[in-house]
Amino acid sequence: MKIIKEIDALQSIADYYRATFKTIGFVPTMGFLHDGHVSLILNARKDSDIVVVSIFVNPTQFGPNEDFEKYPRDFLRDFHICKSSGVDYVFLPERNTVYPENFLTEVKVKSITDRLEGKFRPGHFTGVATIVNKLVNIVKPHYLYVGQKDAQQAVVLRKMAEDLNLDLKVKVCETMREETKLAMSSRNSYLTKEEKSEASVLYEALTEGKKMINDYKVTDANAVMKFIENFIKRKSKNLILQYLAITDNYLMQEIEDLKNYEGEVVISLAAYLGKTRLIDNIIFSYK
Ligand code: AMP
Repeated sequence: MKIIKEIDALQSIADYYRATFKTIGFVPTMGFLHDGHVSLILNARKDSDIVVVSIFVNPTQFGPNEDFEKYPRDFLRDFHICKSSGVDYVFLPERNTVYPENFLTEVKVKSITDRLEGKFRPGHFTGVATIVNKLVNIVKPHYLYVGQKDAQQAVVLRKMAEDLNLDLKVKVCETMREETKLAMSSRNSYLTKEEKSEASVLYEALTEGKKMINDYKVTDANAVMKFIENFIKRKSKNLILQYLAITDNYLMQEIEDLKNYEGEVVISLAAYLGKTRLIDNIIFSYK
């Protein structure tokens, strides 16, 4: 496994593999890797000849009052995880390499990014779309691996790839969970053991919501959301819901009544547990 820090070096490597008809699978990350990232890497390993992981805590996707400074970082640990998961190249650029002085360009996916996460984290998805666009131009992958854990991010990146004719396929991999069913996240390192167990109520609530729709045939999305909200309130003292939405999986538009709806349904939420912000979702096909 090689660590690459320079853009032109990785571009030449990518050119070489493309010229020799090798497929490149790419997993962009912000590091502090866990089994969610590993599952993306293993999927890439399965599909592609060459696996590239990037590790870069991207400042432009954090809001001014968010946790950029204290976001967990441990490259040595990440290095060993990448090596033992079969990664070929780790791209580990410096901030100045990615954003030199006078960097002026942004990639903005409209509409989808006004909702849900976008509403509470203005500018976040523009930061994500811009960095992923840059990384894709550096790594030149055939496949881009992202996690369902960040449902809206996956939708935004798929739309960007479609709209900008990126020459790659976006592959969305299922959310990896702790034994308690709490979605794995680098930010879980902010939580105590007790908080982790309390946070697992979120997925329990989403599962109950899905059950209401699929098993009890409730079609009124508001009723389902009220139920989920009450479930969380009843089961946890400290979780504060920030948003909850039932949407499609293409533009993340809210579905009010499922009666005439057909396709994938995503129930997503964000909640605070103390100062830690957690997101999760459940996805299923309807009808
Ligand atoms: P991050 O390092 O948080 O930016 O995440 C990098 C990639 O890993 C993103 O595509 C995430 O959606 C994905 N990811 C994060 N957590 C999980 C998880 N628990 N299961 C699957 N994928 C995940």
